[in-house]
Amino acid sequence: MVNNMSVIYTPKGKAYEYSPLALNIYEGCAHACKYCYAPDIFHRTLDDYQAKVLPRANIMSRIRQEAPRYADNADRPILLSFTSDPYQPLEKELELTRQTINIFRDYAVHYRILTKSSLAARDFDIMENSHSEFGMTMVFLNDRHRQEWEPNASSVMERMNTLIEASRRGIKTWVSLEPVIIPKETLGIIKHLAPYVNRFSLGKLNHHPEIERTIDWADFGVAAVALLRNLGKSFYIKKDLQKHIKITLRPEEITIPSTQKQGGIVKWKTTQMKL
Ligand code: SF4
Repeated sequence: MVNNMSVIYTPKGKAYEYSPLALNIYEGCAHACKYCYAPDIFHRTLDDYQAKVLPRANIMSRIRQEAPRYADNADRPILLSFTSDPYQPLEKELELTRQTINIFRDYAVHYRILTKSSLAARDFDIMENSHSEFGMTMVFLNDRHRQEWEPNASSVMERMNTLIEASRRGIKTWVSLEPVIIPKETLGIIKHLAPYVNRFSLGKLNHHPEIERTIDWADFGVAAVALLRNLGKSFYIKKDLQKHIKITLRPEEITIPSTQKQGGIVKWKTTQMKL
């Protein structure tokens, strides 16, 4: 039985679109993205959230205790992480995310990484031998824009190379294209990375009305869908963006993806959204 105090939990509302289950190993995030929603969740300022990054209390013993409940959870992978990045600078020394992946491997737990750090490549040796899906958030093509908005995250080039290396090693890959801040750069990322990515997830920018109103979301949405379809890629359009797109979206493009291993090949399975 999973209670509210579990560290592996079902995200509520929009967060569910990332993954049916989530686990946050760290509190705080050194990447300091200007669009970050996490400080609001914890009633902290962005500066404080960036400056104080710590592992959650007793996190490893709690993960060891809870992980066996999720053995063979092919259709309910666990996202690392939602309110922080699993590859903090501190992770280099503490290796808590690495330990977690090892525990997941021991119990055949399916998990989904989402990061903005090239440090993740350190763990590809265990990701390639476990039920992993490796994801990178890509917001910009121009690294000057990345520096402005995501000052402490890995550069655009480092992130792309990390993703390409994951793909080269046979690890399933996905890219979160959210938030969209410069639509032209988002479309460029899709074109550059399509050969290395199994699945894209596309959302819009929220909580920045001054920028949001400068973007024609209908136009962007149609262009992105056309591009992804032409490239033959699996993708998911998040609800916030779906409502702007006036063309008919296919069921598999608007249902939350889950992984299901079938004969060693990943098939994207449609599931009903539970909010
Ligand atoms: S990586 Fe994620 S959690 Fe960390 S600052 Fe950026 S948006 Fe926030």
